[in-house]
Amino acid sequence: MTNKKLFVMKLVKSPDCRFCPGVPESIVHMLWECPKARKMWEEVKTWIKDKTDYELHMSPSYIILNIDIQRDESTPEIIWLILIIVRQYLYSSKCLEKIPSAQGAIKAIQQVEQIELSIATQHRKVEEHCMKWGNFLSNPATFDLGMGALVL
Ligand SMILES: [Zn+2]
Repeated sequence: MTNKKLFVMKLVKSPDCRFCPGVPESIVHMLWECPKARKMWEEVKTWIKDKTDYELHMSPSYIILNIDIQRDESTPEIIWLILIIVRQYLYSSKCLEKIPSAQGAIKAIQQVEQIELSIATQHRKVEEHCMKWGNFLSNPATFDLGMGALVL
């Protein structure tokens, strides 16, 4: 929940974002407008671009609601998943009163990938896992593992 809502419920002393005095913390502020969040998104965008050449569309409707209307090129599935993970990370940073960072967001993405990998390994679906995560695999050697399993 945002501070704006928590304040109405008398659970916090101020409705403001803890980084932005005088600015109530709405969902849009927390996930997009806050300079701390914006800086993190810019860095995550660069990270994605370096990995896949994919240009993250920097608009609140895209980042917050996953609405992709302005472009012809469709968004890869993995990008939608990454956006969900990063939003969740932003929310948990807020709850833990930590400054969000791109490193933290990337770590959160890699944790999800690792959990999915262990499930995929149990079900002998490592190849599918590699196809899904592509350049976002936290350990590129996984790809050889997946292909090796295919050969065997
Ligand atoms: Zn803020």
